[in-house]
Amino acid sequence: MRPVLHSILSNRTRAAGTDVRLGVTMTEWKQDNGRVTVKTSDGQQRVYSLVVVADGALSKTRERLFPDAPKPKYTGQYCWRLVADRPPEIDRCHFYLAHPITAGLMPTSATQMYLFLLSPEPQKIRIEEGTQWQRLKELMAPFGAILGKLRDNLSASSIVNVRPLEAVLVPRPWHRGNVAMIGDAVHATTPHLASGAGIAVEDALVLSDFLASETDIGRALDRFEERRWERCRMVVENSVAIGEMELNHASPDKLKALMAESESALRADI
Ligand SMILES: Cc1cc2nc3c(=O)[nH]c(=O)nc-3n(C[C@H](O)[C@H](O)[C@H](O)COP(=O)(O)OP(=O)(O)OC[C@H]3O[C@@H](n4cnc5c(N)ncnc54)[C@H](O)[C@@H]3O)c2cc1C
Repeated sequence: MRPVLHSILSNRTRAAGTDVRLGVTMTEWKQDNGRVTVKTSDGQQRVYSLVVVADGALSKTRERLFPDAPKPKYTGQYCWRLVADRPPEIDRCHFYLAHPITAGLMPTSATQMYLFLLSPEPQKIRIEEGTQWQRLKELMAPFGAILGKLRDNLSASSIVNVRPLEAVLVPRPWHRGNVAMIGDAVHATTPHLASGAGIAVEDALVLSDFLASETDIGRALDRFEERRWERCRMVVENSVAIGEMELNHASPDKLKALMAESESALRADI
């Protein structure tokens, strides 16, 4: 589950001696001769040779660095998630199609799994928190067996999470001078290939590899973007295409073919 992954990552980050300041944002930055002078909301000013921005799909830095960059676009589906106890037979990801709803079960530990359910919604709407479990129950009406059981057990105390799906692919370059952007800030995807966080983490790994082997930061950033572009483009565009196919009632075989093709590409070296 995300909180477990988060604590692994944050413990490792602190153990590596990283100076972590939480709840702080960049308020101003100025570039001069390969140096970036950054002012932060805690009143500090520091000089860096490289600033790496990973402030997510709604990145404020992207708006300031690249005012003409595209903005995240709503793709017509909502993603519902529910955490539940995992029965032993759910030992891998399971998919269920009941057009226009796609649902799935994903094991996350020996005892837990989550349900995801994608539902069409022509416009973005506000779904009151207190009524989310009831709406999810309605959406799960077509299903029987294990999904039917999960539906029947839904109650006001169920932990339900719902998000509209949005995507954006920012054209290269992803840096201006020595301020570079990675992750959702430049390639936010819908979750159809379950790979948004995966490619965000890969960005960090590949960027550190190039920084370790290149003395010229500009060259390292160019090489980084060249290496990352095709893989990130594929994830964003194929994920959005899978969502469109679901909305257009494409046959399960066609959906499976695009997922299999994308997953095979994802298994290649990063
Ligand atoms: C419904 C749903 C399901 C998903 N399922 C999967 C999945 O199964 N597998 C997968 O790999 N990915 C999945 N993703 C995608 C994944 O969540 C994202 O791709 C990933 O979180 C992107 O990481 P990031 O670090 O780039 O951005 P974020 O996780 O968005 O992190 C950005 C951070 O920047 C901070 N921030 C924002 N603005 C500022 C600012 N101005 N100053 C300082 N800090 C700021 C935010 O507080 C946040 O902590 C899913 C996404 C959704 C919506």
